[in-house]
Amino acid sequence: MANHHPPSPPDADADADARSALIFLGTGCSSMVPNMMCLIQPADPPCSVCFQALSLPPERNPNYRCNTSLLIDYCQSDGNHNYIIIDVGKTFRETVLRWFTFHKIPRIDSIILTHEHADAVLGLDDIRAVQPFSPTNDIDPTPIYLSRHSMESIATKFPYLVNKKLKEGQEIRRVAQMDWKIIDDDHRQPFFASGLKFIPLPVMHGEDYVCLGFLFGEKTRVAYISDVSRIPANTEYVISKCGAGQLDLLILDALYKTGSHNVHFCLPQALEAVKKLCPKQTLLIGMTHELDYYKDNEFLKEWSEREGIPVQLARDGLRVPINL
Ligand SMILES: [Zn+2]
Ligand SMILES: [Zn+2]
Repeated sequence: MANHHPPSPPDADADADARSALIFLGTGCSSMVPNMMCLIQPADPPCSVCFQALSLPPERNPNYRCNTSLLIDYCQSDGNHNYIIIDVGKTFRETVLRWFTFHKIPRIDSIILTHEHADAVLGLDDIRAVQPFSPTNDIDPTPIYLSRHSMESIATKFPYLVNKKLKEGQEIRRVAQMDWKIIDDDHRQPFFASGLKFIPLPVMHGEDYVCLGFLFGEKTRVAYISDVSRIPANTEYVISKCGAGQLDLLILDALYKTGSHNVHFCLPQALEAVKKLCPKQTLLIGMTHELDYYKDNEFLKEWSEREGIPVQLARDGLRVPINL
């Protein structure tokens, strides 16, 4: 008796492989690169990383870095694309103008926040500009996933985005419409954003502060950790090869090239974490002007060959096709 499986096109897998993508909207620190002081009070000799910004347009300068932010272009099995953004910082508008146009991203379907620092949330006002226009502000709000602590802080920073009740006689003013969704700082409490499952990865961002990283992807396991000074044991287990399973891609914070910092990983701690977690591949983000895309990627290439784990600095605008 013949089996009657529904026929599938021969290249279904290959096709699906290229459908989703990660787009690095920003790979820089809070003060961004170029560092303004390097340009208005140049040292002698001047900072070579920052000075590239004077002769190259940002889209051709991998040492031009906006605030860390990742766009997930998630293609579901029905072929529909959903656009999920992690963090909306000070440079949100600039990254939309530069990279949404270049990579043909038409909209944002959901927002996820790692924490409530300026470089992760100060672009939230501009979400209005990528939402459909309605004179009465009567549009579908964009779901935004954030911790309770971030919610409390944003209610203070942007009260008009949170408390929408109009007082008697108050005019309607057009502001970003968000559907605030509180998530737990707990890897056992996953949530879905635009159909994609996310596992929160609480990490220390300074010993007094919990920031969230996220693990996502069923076919490819990706962890995004943009602001971290220490990975607690619970979180380490979830994303390590000798724990719950090897990551296909780790996206990790590395602020300075040398030394250490109280609230961020620098390159030495980032590489130590890579050796411990043992992902198949790592891309570093959150860099200051101390890190040179060309020079330090050469150094990392040698390190990667020696250690057997590919690690590179990411750059703004980098698009990584991925099978989620
Ligand atoms: Zn500089
Ligand atoms: Zn921060």
